[in-house]
Amino acid sequence: MKTLDALKFDNRFARLGDAFSTEVLPEPLDEPRLVLASPAAMALLDLDPAEANSEVFAQLFAGHKLWSDAEPRAMVYSGHQFGVYNPRLGDGRGLLLGEVVNDASEHWDLHLKGAGQTPYSRMGDGRAVLRSSIREFLASEYMHALGIPTSRALCVTGSSTPVWREKQESGAMLLRLAPSHVRFGHFEYFYYTNQHERLKELGEHVLASHFPECLSAENPWAAMFREIVERNAELIARWQAYGFCHGVMNSDNMSILGITFDYGPYAFLDDFDANHICNHSDDSGRYSFSNQVPIAHWNLSALAQALTPFVEVEQLRESLGLFLPLFQAHYQDLMRRRLGLTTADERDAALIERLLQLMQTSAVDYNLFFRRLGEQAPADAIKTLREDFVDLAGFDQWGQEYLARAASEQGTQTERRARMHAVNPRYLLRNYLAQQAIEAAERGDYEPVRELHAVLSRPFEDQPGMERYTERPPEWGKHLEISCSS
Ligand code: AMP
Ligand code: MG
Repeated sequence: MKTLDALKFDNRFARLGDAFSTEVLPEPLDEPRLVLASPAAMALLDLDPAEANSEVFAQLFAGHKLWSDAEPRAMVYSGHQFGVYNPRLGDGRGLLLGEVVNDASEHWDLHLKGAGQTPYSRMGDGRAVLRSSIREFLASEYMHALGIPTSRALCVTGSSTPVWREKQESGAMLLRLAPSHVRFGHFEYFYYTNQHERLKELGEHVLASHFPECLSAENPWAAMFREIVERNAELIARWQAYGFCHGVMNSDNMSILGITFDYGPYAFLDDFDANHICNHSDDSGRYSFSNQVPIAHWNLSALAQALTPFVEVEQLRESLGLFLPLFQAHYQDLMRRRLGLTTADERDAALIERLLQLMQTSAVDYNLFFRRLGEQAPADAIKTLREDFVDLAGFDQWGQEYLARAASEQGTQTERRARMHAVNPRYLLRNYLAQQAIEAAERGDYEPVRELHAVLSRPFEDQPGMERYTERPPEWGKHLEISCSS
């Protein structure tokens, strides 16, 4: 286990030079204090968890200190925002501090979000507020605990620096970890500015650093794109299976690694609603829950366009064509497991679809349903769950079909329960729980958010004494309006 000063840097992206990023120093926050740290994320850097309590920790992650080998830089990218191309985006309030190489020889980007203005800040102040930093931290670490690929969060540092949003809030910084911060929008930027030499350098960097297995393919770029399609199909299947709404699926918020990236007004569904729009600013519902599937495909097409100088259109089209069938296969598989089914049946797609329709019309709590379905033997569980449905005839029919299906499974109820509880979380990151913890943190009390993080880091296990985190959300908690402002 290492101390902070023992981290080793190897800044591969910085070495690409000034066409790809601009050197910028973090702008420190006043009176920095540690709000939250993730021991699991610290372990990725081999850091001793006790380091979080050192004074230098909060200083490093509030922009007051820097490792001598760090090379803080703001990356340039562009992207399609709500379907419209924006030719110049980039890190407007975050800096890539450098890449740390851990003992397993993995590279981890250290990205400090909320580090002040950069050449890409446009009209923005370069800051992030405590509320949004906590939200990103909780989601990153929770998604990881659920087994959903994601960027990680090392810590949140709070401060007394005032930051103006709809009201005055306080500035914070989030230290984000990811093997890469390259987005679809990086490729789009060099493509649409006609810098094809740079585009080539970017692709070669990404291939060598993140897709080395593609280098031996006849066309490594084509192989890389196919891999990106495959990873995204699996990622979106996980989002849909667990009821995760991203909220701002712009192509600059899509990682080339197929990990969940750039948390804004995200939400996990409370009551099932296929049309749920979690982003208060998304008037047309472009990024509604069920639209996430076609939108991911759309974003992949935007990336494909940027790769046309290096890959035949036919080949790109062929890979894009894999997205939907791959998504469906992963999704069915995950949903079967959530239902406790270990074998596949061609009628499963209809069984799942029918259940979702019933949940939709009766506004049934989505994730809770699956946990409760595993709690008792199938027939008893169906009897208990029936009370949550309004369309009783519809649910009874579904229940009959489910029981017939469950009867073909081997094993005891104890085994079924263990199998289902391993994929159906008991603890959920609900908006209202995050909101309550944030309000306490804004008053200077970090205990609630630390406890929430600790509970959510083991979402499948029963944790005695933590029952209050398993309750259904209050009515107000289901209708919190989360905007893009962060
Ligand atoms: P996001 O909505 O966080 O994905 O950000 C979209 C773009 O706006 C990115 O280029 C961000 O860096 C930039 N941005 C967002 N908020 C700010 C801010 N407060 N100051 C400067 N740039 C920002
Ligand atoms: Mg973004």
